[in-house]
Amino acid sequence: MLETAQGLIRKTAKKIGLAEDLTEKLVQPDRVIEVKLPVKMKNGTIKTFQGFRSQHSNTLGPYKGGIRFHQNVSREEVMALSTLMSLKCAVAGLPYGGAKGGIIVDPKELTVEELESLSRTYGRAIASYIGPWTDVPAPDVNTNGQIMLWMLDEYEKAVGAKSPATFTGKPVALGGSLGRTEATGRGGVMVLKALLSKLKSEIRNPKSETNTKSQKKGNFEIRDSRFEIPQSPSIAVQGFGNVGYYFAKIAEEEGFSVVAVSDSKGGVYVKEGLSVASTLDCKKKKGSVAGCYCKGTVCDIKYGRTVSQEELLELPVDILVPAALENVITAENAGKIKAKIIIEMANGPIAEDAYPILDKMGIIVVPDILANSGGVTVSYFEWVQGLAGYWWSEKEVNDKLERQLQLAFEAVWNKSKTLKINMKEGAFAVALTRIAGLQ
Ligand code: NAD
Repeated sequence: MLETAQGLIRKTAKKIGLAEDLTEKLVQPDRVIEVKLPVKMKNGTIKTFQGFRSQHSNTLGPYKGGIRFHQNVSREEVMALSTLMSLKCAVAGLPYGGAKGGIIVDPKELTVEELESLSRTYGRAIASYIGPWTDVPAPDVNTNGQIMLWMLDEYEKAVGAKSPATFTGKPVALGGSLGRTEATGRGGVMVLKALLSKLKSEIRNPKSETNTKSQKKGNFEIRDSRFEIPQSPSIAVQGFGNVGYYFAKIAEEEGFSVVAVSDSKGGVYVKEGLSVASTLDCKKKKGSVAGCYCKGTVCDIKYGRTVSQEELLELPVDILVPAALENVITAENAGKIKAKIIIEMANGPIAEDAYPILDKMGIIVVPDILANSGGVTVSYFEWVQGLAGYWWSEKEVNDKLERQLQLAFEAVWNKSKTLKINMKEGAFAVALTRIAGLQ
């Protein structure tokens, strides 16, 4: 993952004419903090865990990024993820650099007391490296608002003052922002709508400057037949967790037809469009979306069929939304994808070798650092509100989110067109240009 991000930085840096020494500075994080975390376990023994905080770049503002608890966390992984956070914050136009933290642990094997002790120990260990104007952590894989509060408590004890803006992703009652829970999924739908309206205007106006013959290459071969966008475009969503569920729910509210969803146990396909709310209710009862063929308030096998996780990716839909895991679209299955647009809601769902295949097929891929940047954008709003001690309504948050993402989308779209590159490279180019101060 680290090599992929570094490779793409070097490749894009060349295209925008970034000096080699500056490129090499951006390829490595500013620093990686490694900490030993001794925790007294329930059985009386002391177990020492290993934790990391990688701070990639603070050129545009304080470091910003999540903390994950997972058995596969490694120094390399947090380095890669901190790099992508710098790029994501820059694309989203936020005054932040990038960071990522993690502890090597399977939190499901800990008691609540052990989890609290581990979180507090980590909070103390990194206290002198974080702060509202230094580095602002947030939840990530297997961490949540409660864990942020434990860490924040340790930080506040260390500095002897209240400092809610040091962590984001807190519960709303204790300094969180309205709209944060839904923000990543909502932001993805906002970016999708911005893309569709751009494509519609290009189809209506084929001689527009951004659709000249010389630019009809790779990702941007916009042919009327291929991109004839139906009234209610169909969507398949892989993953029905925070991101996938809210993406599907908000897309349905916006008039899209969500025809397939999946989770770790399987998937369902309802050709005429499923009901997202009923599917969630059904999943709560059954433990999985598998077997939930829901239309309106009724779930019945006559409405649909089961699909495997692999099959979901290859369904005949207009839009495919991988919102679960990384590297699910590879050179092996890329050729079988029928969607015209892929919205990367998970981090890194497409393997590097699949992009050229998708480009050749004319599939537009909206990159993760743009598509899922709604989450960090509302984290930024939480930080602003925490610093000001003044709280916004959910509508204010959502309106500001839309404005921010519209600007981010336009920047990536225009950069891709100008440099004749796909949107993934376009997003990297926007980010590097901003971090390097070239624009
Ligand atoms: P989550 O844990 O809430 O949900 C993950 C979902 O994926 C679950 O429904 C799970 O059952 C499903 N899943 C697991 N394996 C699967 C498989 N093989 N096939 C289909 N589904 C499978 O996580 P989340 O917060 O929704 O995050 C999802 C992705 O989005 C991750 O890559 C994460 O890094 C990224 N992301 C999340 C946020 C955020 O704000 N939560 C922000 C940016 C990026």
